[in-house]
Amino acid sequence: VSAIACRRCSVGDLDPLAWRCPLCGGPLELVAAPEVEPVALGEPITPLVEWPRDDGVEVLLKLEGTLPTGSFKDRGSALLAGWLARHRARSAVIDSSGNAGASLAAYCARAGIACDVYAPATAAPPKLTQIRAYGARVHLVAGPRQAAADAAVAAAEGGAVYAAHAWSPLFTAGTATCAIELHEQLGGRVPDAVVVPVGAGTLFLGIRRGYADVGAARAPRLFGVQTTACPPLALAHERGEAEPAPVTPRRGAAEGILIARPPRGAEVLAAARETGGAIIAVEDDAVWRALAKLARSGVYVEPTSAAAVAGLELLIDTGRLGSAQRVVVILTGTGLKASAQIAAALFD
Ligand SMILES: [Zn+2]
Repeated sequence: VSAIACRRCSVGDLDPLAWRCPLCGGPLELVAAPEVEPVALGEPITPLVEWPRDDGVEVLLKLEGTLPTGSFKDRGSALLAGWLARHRARSAVIDSSGNAGASLAAYCARAGIACDVYAPATAAPPKLTQIRAYGARVHLVAGPRQAAADAAVAAAEGGAVYAAHAWSPLFTAGTATCAIELHEQLGGRVPDAVVVPVGAGTLFLGIRRGYADVGAARAPRLFGVQTTACPPLALAHERGEAEPAPVTPRRGAAEGILIARPPRGAEVLAAARETGGAIIAVEDDAVWRALAKLARSGVYVEPTSAAAVAGLELLIDTGRLGSAQRVVVILTGTGLKASAQIAAALFD
């Protein structure tokens, strides 16, 4: 029996390396614990540090940039690459604006799997260098982020495995370790809210899953943050809709979350609603202000992560956190790969 299935179609005997349901085209789910050994690169428990404030809200920052390739994606890649190896995939194709590509390239390198990464031509050069250094091939695709995804799907028709982080239930399951760690770090106390940048929403869903896995009495309120450059989930949430809203993405500071059509968008919207949270959007100006403020307290993150802090500020300023007293913000990636953009925004 395969561990993955489509809940809508209840189709059996799926190819374990299928990336979506062959009948309805929807995302697949894990219906049993997958028998898989994650690929390991010495992942640490990521730090949880206080961010001092004077408004009575206790803010804790979880520093995912300390993972081996510099972002939370390693949590998903470790499990996904293990799954690919277990099912004898020889090559994998993915699309990424940088962090997911670098992460999967590293874990595929460790597992002996060839890797092709389709990236938007606007991706940050240091991320592309990192991907190439791990031995993966980089294919630059002109146009919006979605064009890179389309190119990866087309390439996978040739027989390579499409290891899409935005689709893979293994990837999302891997990110659940973020919440499991957090739960241990807080001694089993559930924070009032968790704020996460949201593009495809894999980490957002992983945190929801992690709190279910540890048997917590309740999940924290989950707040996802997008930017106004590409807010399909924030718009849908505001309108009370169940599916991502159609948007035409602009270029923006938070390149990691410019995902116009998140495959699991409906699940993300449902998880936000069910936990009493929300999906909101912030302006790029607020992202840069948040990034500078964080850095001046000793924490250097990429713009996508700073968006979560800009979202936190917006939630506090608009009273939407209510009586929340302890909030965790997940800072998804290091600033070290984004120094060129950060310099241009802060100092030019
Ligand atoms: Zn289906």
